[in-house]
Amino acid sequence: MTREDEALLRRAIELAATARAGGNPPFGSLLAGPDGTVLAEDHNTSITERDITAHPELKLARWAARELDPDTAAATTMYTSCQPCGMCAGAIARSGLGRVVYALSNEQLATLKPPGTGFTDAPAEGPALFDEARIPVEEYYR
Ligand SMILES: [Zn+2]
Repeated sequence: MTREDEALLRRAIELAATARAGGNPPFGSLLAGPDGTVLAEDHNTSITERDITAHPELKLARWAARELDPDTAAATTMYTSCQPCGMCAGAIARSGLGRVVYALSNEQLATLKPPGTGFTDAPAEGPALFDEARIPVEEYYR
């Protein structure tokens, strides 16, 4: 990690403080091009927007997929105040962003949060009905 990376990471931490000051969970992120130019930045708004998906990493991954061509996305780095959660990591993978740099790891975050505030997976059942469920999928990929 370079000094430039650390400077951009400090901006993501400032955005986390902005989120907190506005009544939201304290997480912030930004996207920077290869020369360090900030392309977009955001912070968590999950409380004020009443949207459980309003994590800055997800919002920026969606922005990148919409606004950047694939080569530009691949040359773009996300700087984020905390390691992306599973939801955001999936969106980042689909966005084509080339790199993620984070401050707190999920393990470090867990030590800072009160016990019992993490997320648990919903019980899931499956697979089932393969012969029926595969029809629209096969038609799509033909
Ligand atoms: Zn997330």
